[in-house]
Amino acid sequence: MSGSGALSAPVPAGPASGAPTIGVDVGGTKILGIVLAPDGSVLAEQRSPTPRSAEGLLAAIASTARELAPVTGVGNPPVGVGMPGLVDRTGSLHVAPNLIGGDGLEVRAGLMRLGLGPEVAVENDATCAVEGEHAFGALRGTAVGCMITLGTGIGGGLVVNGNVVLGAHGFAAEVGHMVVVEEGRPCPCGQRGCWEQYASGNSLGDMGREAVSRGRAAAVLALAGGAVHLVRGEHVTSAARDGDSDALALIGEYATWVAVGLANLINIIDPEIIVVGGGLAADADLMLDPIRAATSGRPEGAGIRSEVPIVVSELGDSAGAVGAAVFARTRAMERRETHGVLAGLRSDESL
Ligand SMILES: [Zn+2]
Repeated sequence: MSGSGALSAPVPAGPASGAPTIGVDVGGTKILGIVLAPDGSVLAEQRSPTPRSAEGLLAAIASTARELAPVTGVGNPPVGVGMPGLVDRTGSLHVAPNLIGGDGLEVRAGLMRLGLGPEVAVENDATCAVEGEHAFGALRGTAVGCMITLGTGIGGGLVVNGNVVLGAHGFAAEVGHMVVVEEGRPCPCGQRGCWEQYASGNSLGDMGREAVSRGRAAAVLALAGGAVHLVRGEHVTSAARDGDSDALALIGEYATWVAVGLANLINIIDPEIIVVGGGLAADADLMLDPIRAATSGRPEGAGIRSEVPIVVSELGDSAGAVGAAVFARTRAMERRETHGVLAGLRSDESL
């Protein structure tokens, strides 16, 4: 999946005009920083490995923003940051199992102490991805839609009434933790049977290992060098591309688990469109048709509903950084408006 082509072309519609902003997407293994123009084009980007400590994380985000800042042409540009975990309204991170030093990290306050700001917006990484797709990608112009990211876990974001849903506390759309099997597989969140234990990108590897340990999918095992514990999702997709029937059956089984959650989402928000992103979207050509087939017919009243299009992310792995930069611009504009109103009130008082 590559978003660079989609991003290089200027997009006419989008958030309000102004100077470029910076978006930083912090993942479990890498940090991607970009400079986003108001028209949605990416003016610069920078990648670095994710540090493995709280101080290291803040320093790496700050240095990414500082190095990109000159490209914006603004002295102290607005910065948006996407973090993997629950991000509260103060910009602090909670429950971040894939980020060493992440749990309890005061991201916004820490970055402002390091001299970033005055505008630093911090949101959940999947929320940023849906914001990016809504502004400049596959969800552009969508009033009601959703995006799921299939990777290590399952991230998600919802658009309702033309806005990305943040929730009362910033914790909305944790779709990967909707329970699909009561007393099912344990999840790092502490519950059992969460959707991401069955339908994340990692789950496909789990299914592959389970199949080969039962003597099935010899082609998958061969691609992993004959070692069961080395079987990963990519070995299943490779074997499926070669036409191996066991691997194709595993893709079908996996697609069914994806469909179980998608049907729940369709029943809840009645979306116009569903966007699939994350690492597994790279195999969209192999995955999307089985997912569409397994989803069709599941939602309530499927016979009278129109089929919900299920499409691949347009921005690829840049979606989170693009959305973080969009949040930075939106928050900066809100801040300016608030200050304008306050300034107006003050001048009224002085009359
Ligand atoms: Zn869970």
